Amino acid sequence: MAHEHYDGLTLFSGGLDSILATKVLQAQGLRVLGVHFVTPFFGAPDRLAHWQRTYDIPLQAIDAGQAFVDMLLAGPESGFGKVLNPCVDCKILLLQLAKQHMAAYSARFLATGEVLGQRPMSQRSDTLQAIRKKADVEDILVRPLSAQLLPPSAVEQQGIVNREHLLSVRGRGRKEQLRLAEQFGITEIPQPAGGCLLTEPESAKRYWPLLKRGHTPPASDFHLANLGRQFWADARWLCVGRNQSDNILLAETAAVDDFVFKLKDLPGPLALARPLPGAQWDETAIRSAAALTASFSSKARQHKEDILMLVSHQGHTRELAISLDWAQDLPWREPDWDDVDKSRLPGGW
Ligand code: SF4
Repeated sequence: MAHEHYDGLTLFSGGLDSILATKVLQAQGLRVLGVHFVTPFFGAPDRLAHWQRTYDIPLQAIDAGQAFVDMLLAGPESGFGKVLNPCVDCKILLLQLAKQHMAAYSARFLATGEVLGQRPMSQRSDTLQAIRKKADVEDILVRPLSAQLLPPSAVEQQGIVNREHLLSVRGRGRKEQLRLAEQFGITEIPQPAGGCLLTEPESAKRYWPLLKRGHTPPASDFHLANLGRQFWADARWLCVGRNQSDNILLAETAAVDDFVFKLKDLPGPLALARPLPGAQWDETAIRSAAALTASFSSKARQHKEDILMLVSHQGHTRELAISLDWAQDLPWREPDWDDVDKSRLPGGW
């Protein structure tokens, strides 16, 4: 399919800085496409249509899930930030991916909303330059918000982007950005930062059991780790819905080899067990997972007799009569941030 032509692509996270960087370029009369990367850890493809309307910026979602997971598993060269966020390697990767998409749009430059001195590590001047170099985008990258504080980029030198109309925003404050937003008539201001699950211990702890195993789980496993309550018993993994919307998502996520647990006659959660390499899903494990699932149903807890569960696996569904006590036959545990030991990960120094 032939793509429309654009002068450049901006890395569009949906944050204020990425909106402003795009607006600054549009104000020069440049045609700019915002590319929005989606991984299990960040990205909101369902917001795209809203942003497009609200900010009058053409947008395109790009799935970067597997490339990001591969980077995470191989070990980010620059290590992690405070939590499990490999920010420097993330920026390098997204720039490399964006560069790969340029030809399809005949784009001649890339732009980011980075602001000099905004974040401690990844937006220092020397780090910005190192990222540019590593991503091999030295000749094509422009940072419209801080460009006047940085050496002129090749894109500016060649006159593709007019440097005189770029800005000199610096530091952590948002005052200047809010003033610019007003100037561009932007009334819906997105909340600062946030949105990356790798920066939040409460979310990032969910990935640790997958990461520590030393296997190479696909991106879809990390999507599953975001859903419901997570339980692990050694290598056995069970995700239990907390509400109706979790139950629907889990049902939609189920692959043919997964086990799906449901109460037959009582209201309660749906749960999904994904058999990973090395995990023993024998009858004891299946019964224990079924019992744990049922234990989250208040009706099942009041029930005096055995509880009937439906267990689906590889296209077959069978009935299983269980007792809630069987949940204790396996040492089910929820992931805990205190268990996370980054030094065990490649790149986790
Ligand atoms: S916070 Fe998340 S999305 Fe942002 S640079 Fe770091 S790893 Fe990437």
